Amino acid sequence: MELNREIVNLLTNAEDKLRDAFKEVDNLALFNQSKVLDAFRDNAIGQRHFAGTNGYGYDDIGRDTLCKLLARIFGTESAIVSPLIVSGTHALSLTLFALLKHGDKMLSISGAPYDTLQTIIKGNGNGSLADNDIDYIQVDLIESGLDYAKIEDTLRNNKIKLVFIGRSRGYEWRNALTVSQIKKAADLVKSISPDTIVMCDNCYGEFTDYTEPTQNNVDIVAGSLIKNLGGGIAPTGGYVCGKSELIDKVACRLTAPSIGMEVGSYASGYRTFYQGLFCAPHVVACALKSAMLFSQVFTDLGYSTLPEPSIIPSDIICSIQFETKDQAIDFIRAVQKASPIDSNVVPFPWDMPGYDSQVIMAAGTFVAGASIELSADSPLTKPYTAYIQGALTYEHAKLAIMYCLESLSNKKG
Ligand SMILES: *Cc1c(COP(=O)(O)O)cnc(C)c1O
Repeated sequence: MELNREIVNLLTNAEDKLRDAFKEVDNLALFNQSKVLDAFRDNAIGQRHFAGTNGYGYDDIGRDTLCKLLARIFGTESAIVSPLIVSGTHALSLTLFALLKHGDKMLSISGAPYDTLQTIIKGNGNGSLADNDIDYIQVDLIESGLDYAKIEDTLRNNKIKLVFIGRSRGYEWRNALTVSQIKKAADLVKSISPDTIVMCDNCYGEFTDYTEPTQNNVDIVAGSLIKNLGGGIAPTGGYVCGKSELIDKVACRLTAPSIGMEVGSYASGYRTFYQGLFCAPHVVACALKSAMLFSQVFTDLGYSTLPEPSIIPSDIICSIQFETKDQAIDFIRAVQKASPIDSNVVPFPWDMPGYDSQVIMAAGTFVAGASIELSADSPLTKPYTAYIQGALTYEHAKLAIMYCLESLSNKKG
């Protein structure tokens, strides 16, 4: 591509402004890398853990050790990391169904959960939580984040089996919750109602901080392996981490109450999961820097972004608000054009399963739909917000920004 001087200057200035914040991200990545390396050493990971298995997968050491490894990293008693969990939505769904029973009530304290969870919660005749007589209430977020007073009030006036916290922004114009905000909420829940289970949707949050929610009074977290924890290498899968008593229930829900995690084979082998987990702290750091660079550049151009520049996001997303639908569409198309895979494809808005409005997506990824790779999406409703996330390399994000700026300047004529 031809480099326009104005665009190069804009990027150089943005990077200068971010220098100190980028150093902080480097420190975070070093800390998390060390945590991951220690876990690999403690579990004496070797080639034998990578071998594939078939059939029932009894004594599958690759599967069992992968679970132990993540439990160690997240500071939990137990974990399930499995290619048999098809996605983040599946991991979250099976956790909710494992822990909630007929007559129980769930409380979301971070407003509406992520779009694909709506259909799991609300009655629709498809075997949702509501179809199983599981009640749902929510406390909306306020300007400053969690509404602690209302959460307290709700807990005092209702018998709540499970409190749900969405860490990432999802498709909302807000910042992700920080681990310290999550800790404050979890501490509050436990002080009022010690038996209530605190669960967190950890998608996009892994390794964006020094500790995970499970090290801060959260009982159980779930997420996807084609986001942060897969490091861009894991080909599929999901995970659930937490207290043994809860994880055992999730295991029985994943397979069957008689077999739990004693079974489950994976013929392709587990190397990609181990290698992805090992790379994840660095890849997440690239994604954080990428989100911060998008934020800085688009703020400098006069757009509203979240997080504001120089703030290290608590997920790997940068949200940018555009004035028109066409601008949002052009932005997504420029990201697609800058992708290593399917750069020749022009994305169009479509009715994605699990989402309310039409969505346009850029997903030129090696692993289909992997959003730890540089990808972007925009639900086409007002205000026209595009969400850009991931990046296997920081350099790729920088090039993608150049494509976006070029597309914008061409439109201006
Ligand atoms: C991606 C995501 C999910 C769902 O994960 P999938 O792997 O897409 O099914 C749930 N919650 C949040 C916050 C997410 O970002």
